[in-house]
Amino acid sequence: MNDLPNGFTGFAGVDREQFESAADAIRRQHGEEPAPEPAVPGSFQYARDLDSGRRVETELPFDMNRIDDIPPLDQRWAWVEIDLSAIRHNVAETRKFLQPRCRLTAVVKADAYGHGAVEVSKAALGAGADRLAVATVPEAVELRKAGLTAPILILAQPPATSIPLLLGYNITPTIYEPDFAVAYGEAADLHGVKAPYHLAVNTGMNRIGVRFDHVVEFLHQVSFHRALELEGVFTHYATADCPETLDFNIQARHFADAIAAVRAAGFDPGIVHSANSAAIYRYPDVHFDMVRLGISLYGFHPCPETRGMVDLRPAMSVHARITDTRFVPMSEGVSYGLHYRSPGSVKICTVPIGYADGLRRGLSSNTDFILGGRYFRQVGNICMDQCMFEVDMRSYGTRDRIDPQVGDEVLIVGSQGIAEVTIDEMAEKLGSIQHEIAIGFAQRMERIYT
Ligand SMILES: *Cc1c(COP(=O)(O)O)cnc(C)c1O
Repeated sequence: MNDLPNGFTGFAGVDREQFESAADAIRRQHGEEPAPEPAVPGSFQYARDLDSGRRVETELPFDMNRIDDIPPLDQRWAWVEIDLSAIRHNVAETRKFLQPRCRLTAVVKADAYGHGAVEVSKAALGAGADRLAVATVPEAVELRKAGLTAPILILAQPPATSIPLLLGYNITPTIYEPDFAVAYGEAADLHGVKAPYHLAVNTGMNRIGVRFDHVVEFLHQVSFHRALELEGVFTHYATADCPETLDFNIQARHFADAIAAVRAAGFDPGIVHSANSAAIYRYPDVHFDMVRLGISLYGFHPCPETRGMVDLRPAMSVHARITDTRFVPMSEGVSYGLHYRSPGSVKICTVPIGYADGLRRGLSSNTDFILGGRYFRQVGNICMDQCMFEVDMRSYGTRDRIDPQVGDEVLIVGSQGIAEVTIDEMAEKLGSIQHEIAIGFAQRMERIYT
């Protein structure tokens, strides 16, 4: 018998000597020898088999000075995996839709839609993306601090108080207010640098931007400033992913008119861009000089219409290991509210993932987990940090029985054999979009890149 709890690696703040002697005292009570010194000084011997995840009976030599080296997956049995080859594949597939001269911007806002902005940016740039776009100044600064040198566009006008960061980190803002443009130009001039910007044009979404028929007026207002440099002009579509095309076409027409007016007034619009993921695949006419690839960079179809058009691979999968199992007698309930009642002959398994990890509570009793290539029904309310699923233990026909054990790996999102659970299905069930679900899974779980 091993008195140390499996996986136990000591308490923070407990002196190593003290702890070891307490452990040795317990061993002596059971007539065992004191723990041997670690074979490799400072090494850990894990309390589970790394391949199967099964707990293994073992002595636990450890070095109290290296407790922080215990890998994240040995600290917590729920995690997200990001397949960077899928990111590269999605960039390459999207490139096939573009003219050779058309630039591709990887939209990595919101920590790359929950996939990790630094890693995704590196993968996307390595696979043929030309530029990066984010939503906020801190997001852009994070990429610069990670050593990325590609042009970074902020897709909205940041607060004027952030201008020194734009100049200091070489981050390009979106602008639509003359006052901001002038403040930005003057700050750049003081430091003897240029102030490049992209002008946002409101063609109908009514979120940000200069109205399409006021663009020339805006340029006349700011063009006196010598440091300001119009590097690009863009718009954003409200309905590129909708089945109907009329509203989209009206926006595209307004944008084309605005660009023509800019040129007619003698201004160079620079890089003209408008297409998000849906528009990239559905509307080649609006690619112009650059496209902005967001949701499909991560392998999601923006709408059903693109399914037959492009081969995309989801990069994100969500994993957990079983932390507890039990047979629940017929008619006993499971989880808050006891809404699920056991039909008998079921093993209820617990995994340490809940709505605080992005597994939305609205999916309770309405999603499947995958174990050994087979589907199992999530049952009972999803809790903040844990949830349960049901394994039917009856054997019938030739079906092999699965008898899950603590430590077995469960797939929450992803595919295994022919079984697949997707973020698309979750979004559909929740009346949401994939963006929101993917970002949710970034909340607390460790991300592993494969
Ligand atoms: C988020 C965003 C994108 C990317 O959109 P997807 O639909 O995810 O491809 C492109 N442009 C702007 C302005 C955005 O805000």
